[in-house]
Amino acid sequence: MAVKILEIVGTFFPNNCISCGKKLSPRRFLCDFCEDVIRGPLPFSFSLGKFTARSYWWYEPPVSEIIKAYKFNKRWRLSRLMAQWLFTLLDSCLPAAGTDFSIIPIPTTFRALRERGFDSNGLILHQLRKIANYEVTDALIAIKSGLPQSSLTKEERKRAVEEKFALKTGRLPDKIILFDDVITTGSTITYCAKLLKDAGVKELKILSIARAK
Ligand SMILES: [Zn+2]
Repeated sequence: MAVKILEIVGTFFPNNCISCGKKLSPRRFLCDFCEDVIRGPLPFSFSLGKFTARSYWWYEPPVSEIIKAYKFNKRWRLSRLMAQWLFTLLDSCLPAAGTDFSIIPIPTTFRALRERGFDSNGLILHQLRKIANYEVTDALIAIKSGLPQSSLTKEERKRAVEEKFALKTGRLPDKIILFDDVITTGSTITYCAKLLKDAGVKELKILSIARAK
């Protein structure tokens, strides 16, 4: 009976693989083939300046297609899938039971908030907290909308990042996981990491869903 209902729903609301477009049953995001490409978490860490980072997978299809559909195409339900990926990554380095690390998201800038209408990292962490009991602290705020980074020189880009984020007042946790969905150059997240370290954070790890090659 349930299969029959899903078939009927599928006729009226066709569902396709977000990455390759293949027809899918309702409620799925990726076909078996695309799903099989993702084998996270990546089993190694990498350096970002003075900091160490880990990512769930590479920023390439199908993961990049998932992230784009989530951020720019209003596919908010994908936050659950990414929360699951983040959970697997966290669990491989810091199991929730007994961890005293608090997760701090890179905040969505005003410009992105206006364009997308929602806080993408915030929603992933909201879904994560339905899976496991990690503490989330909104310690950073976006203070100014930067220009698109691709149009800037290296020096301008550095300044744009510095003008974009600041620390909220209040006590910071001693141990922090700084989280962003994608790490490309790493300039945003290392700047935020430095802000937190300079403010007295003792231990800091960087995690992301995807990392650009
Ligand atoms: Zn596919």
